[in-house]
Amino acid sequence: MAESVELPGRLAILPFRNKVLLPGAFIRIRCTSHTSVKLVEQELWQREEKGLIGILPVRDAAEMTSMDSVLSQGVGSESGERSSKVQINTSDAHTVDGKSHPEVIHWHKRGVAARALHLSRGVEKPSGRVTYIVVLEGLCRFNVEELSTRGPYYTAKISPLEMTKAEMEQVEQDPEFVTLSRQFKATATELISVLEQKQKTGGRIKVLLETLPLHKLADIFVASFEMSLEEQLSMLDSVDPKVRLSKATELVDRHLQSIRVAEKITQKVEGQLSKSQKEFLLRQQMRAIKEELGDNDDDEDDLVALERKMQSAGMPSNIWKHAQRELRRLKKMQPQQPGYNSSRVYLELLADLPWQKASEEQELDLKAAKDHLDSDHYGLVKVKQRIIEYLAVRKLKPDASGPVLCFVGPPGVGKTSLASSIAAALGRKFVRISLGGVKDEADIRGHRRTYIGSMPGRLIDGLKRVGVCNPVMLLDEIDKTGSDVRGDPASALLEVLDPEQNKSFNDHYLNVPYDLSKVIFVATANRAQPIPPPLLDRMEVIELPGYTAEEKLRIAMQHLIPRVLDQHGLSSEYLQIPEAMVKLVIQRYTREAGVRNLERNLAALARAAAVRVAEQEQVVSVSKDVQKLASPLLDNRLAEGAEVEMEVLPMGVNNHEISNTFKISSLLVVDELMLEKILGPPRFDDQEAADRVATPGVSVGLVWTSFGGEVQFVEATAMVGNGELHLTGQLGDVIKESAQIALTWVRARAADLKLAAAKETNLLQGRDIHIHFPAGAVPKDGPSAGVTLVTALVSLFSQKSVRADTAMTGEMTLRGLVLPVGGIKDKILAAHRHGIKRVILPERNLKDLVEVPASVLSSLEILLAKRMEDVLEHAFDGGSPWRQHSKL
Ligand code: ADP
Repeated sequence: MAESVELPGRLAILPFRNKVLLPGAFIRIRCTSHTSVKLVEQELWQREEKGLIGILPVRDAAEMTSMDSVLSQGVGSESGERSSKVQINTSDAHTVDGKSHPEVIHWHKRGVAARALHLSRGVEKPSGRVTYIVVLEGLCRFNVEELSTRGPYYTAKISPLEMTKAEMEQVEQDPEFVTLSRQFKATATELISVLEQKQKTGGRIKVLLETLPLHKLADIFVASFEMSLEEQLSMLDSVDPKVRLSKATELVDRHLQSIRVAEKITQKVEGQLSKSQKEFLLRQQMRAIKEELGDNDDDEDDLVALERKMQSAGMPSNIWKHAQRELRRLKKMQPQQPGYNSSRVYLELLADLPWQKASEEQELDLKAAKDHLDSDHYGLVKVKQRIIEYLAVRKLKPDASGPVLCFVGPPGVGKTSLASSIAAALGRKFVRISLGGVKDEADIRGHRRTYIGSMPGRLIDGLKRVGVCNPVMLLDEIDKTGSDVRGDPASALLEVLDPEQNKSFNDHYLNVPYDLSKVIFVATANRAQPIPPPLLDRMEVIELPGYTAEEKLRIAMQHLIPRVLDQHGLSSEYLQIPEAMVKLVIQRYTREAGVRNLERNLAALARAAAVRVAEQEQVVSVSKDVQKLASPLLDNRLAEGAEVEMEVLPMGVNNHEISNTFKISSLLVVDELMLEKILGPPRFDDQEAADRVATPGVSVGLVWTSFGGEVQFVEATAMVGNGELHLTGQLGDVIKESAQIALTWVRARAADLKLAAAKETNLLQGRDIHIHFPAGAVPKDGPSAGVTLVTALVSLFSQKSVRADTAMTGEMTLRGLVLPVGGIKDKILAAHRHGIKRVILPERNLKDLVEVPASVLSSLEILLAKRMEDVLEHAFDGGSPWRQHSKL
């Protein structure tokens, strides 16, 4: 600090609004207003040697009346802005006491000369406005003689107020001054020691206390306290060192007292503060610090929202503790820090998961549930009965851990919609989790959070989506899970479906146990066989074998058509699909066990109708408008029974529009022509089998696929070769072996079957046999093609065609015995769909016929075979070649 400063006669004046700079104090101000920027530029920035400026306190009218409210507005960063008002309102020269405009602003008479210690210049974007940040050090007091507003900023004629060295030396001799100095020093030392204890920052001030003249120190001390503006001004006005010292002593003492009182209160309060209060205080402090640092506050708010969400999530206490730990960790992190986001997403999941939230289960009304099932689904009597039984058990014992229902059947037979009906009957929410193609255990259990991009498993994700802890959860296509190196999803599912274990299901991502016991699981599968036995053991399989054409017709008429019309914004007023046309769609365009394609085709018809109706509606809407205007007329005419449409047509409507307008009243009835136009030429007809078996070497088999039963042709042909058997059509090992067995059996029986003239003749002499299973892209396997293969070979070697109306299924042993096979009901339904009239089955499958609807059975001839010879007998026109021969 300069010992003495040479003050010039005039100083540029920076008004300091409602604040005082005392000598020895430092202040950092941001100059943004035009006048202050100009002042800094000309007086400080552009000068080689940094000049002096005067800081003069000003008080505005509000400050004069209500000090506190203005004090809180802070440092005079915008000081210049306010002062500019004075500039506008006042004449050239101001009298310093500001009498001319007391209501606007009040200028203080005394100020402090200051020197710039640091200057920085900035340009605001995008306005291009220049701003300065100036650090000033207060040097010495001055008196304002005259204030002038001429020029871009204030200037003042001033006179110095500080004592000269000689004067000061004289004062120092004064015993009163000495006493006052001693008192001040004592109080100041005490304050320093208190501060030292509290903040350990007193060291530097202590040095000052020893080195600086006390009257200067008085200013510095006082400047560092928070004081009222009045007190600051009176300190500024204390030009006499004695007055200054006594005032400073008083202020320092008061500050000391207030520190002591505050300390006492803190000690008292601290004892009473509960942990949460403390946390709150600390958090507030942290927020303040962050604000000061300019850290984004949004995140903070988000975290508060997250915490609130977590609090209302109803987590069990141990999980709540875990979540809080994680939240504390998150709060300490910077948003840019790695791991911040993953931690946050994790907490969001914890907060979103329904720990306790459950849909209120209604009192189960079995009659209503049955009605609901009936209204949604045609037929399926047994299945619906089983569902009602299941619901009844739940009603009697809501927490019963009964078996998990598993609907098994081809696509489109209503498995999913039955499951959602169960949910509706129970008044619970429904969520579907697709397990098709899941090979990784992590899909079920989630990835550990240490992995990048880790996610919770499908179950937890589904629960988050559905938002309640007691939904009906459909595990769709449970037979399509496979296992590979990434683990076995089935074993994770085992845990899910086990009522003993699923109380604390462990998702790797979640990392805390989740109670799945309130979830009602229902599974679907196309086939039961691929489901791992332990999993199958936990489930009760309910088979939905597929529908007959008659059932499909009923489903279409009663359920699909109304639904499809509704989905397309149509009604039966616009579109009618007669029963005969639905039958045609079923026969010619779909050949499936379920009704999904049927629904799709009906939707195509509805779409086409919707386009027409929409086109017409445009015309109608014009007419409607006119009708509205002419309504009294219309009413009259209607009463008279006149042709209103003609009346209300607007002028200038051409013939085309008129015809459209009339068309709307005529509804669209689907006919055969329209079917072909919209759905294309028929895809299937009953001629297929006849065409394909027209040549010898082809037979008709019945197989079972995940799409239900299917008709499978088997083609065999012979060519010049070395007696080899070629097999094509994506065949599995079992079916390949069946082909070998079939060939061996035919060769062994060649003579009996009269396929070769003499016993020793080799059927394969000089030729190769090729057997192909068409639909070459579809993998096939299983033993049930045995009888079909033999029939194809016998047909080939005997050059006799098999009957086109006969299909067969059955496994054959090497000795020619026909063994029973599975999926009889589906196979018979498939044969029926394909227009087959006769079906050859293993005799031991007779018992399975009870499952086949009577209407189907009555339209088919079922032929039972015990041995291969029986099959051949039925397969050929006029019996087997062998029998035929023996008859002769
Ligand atoms: P899945 O799950 O077996 O593949 P969906 O449940 O998805 O089949 O059924 C396909 C469509 O067929 C749904 O619109 C469903 O309502 C309808 N559907 C299937 N069976 C029936 C039925 N018996 N009665 C009425 N609609 C049915």
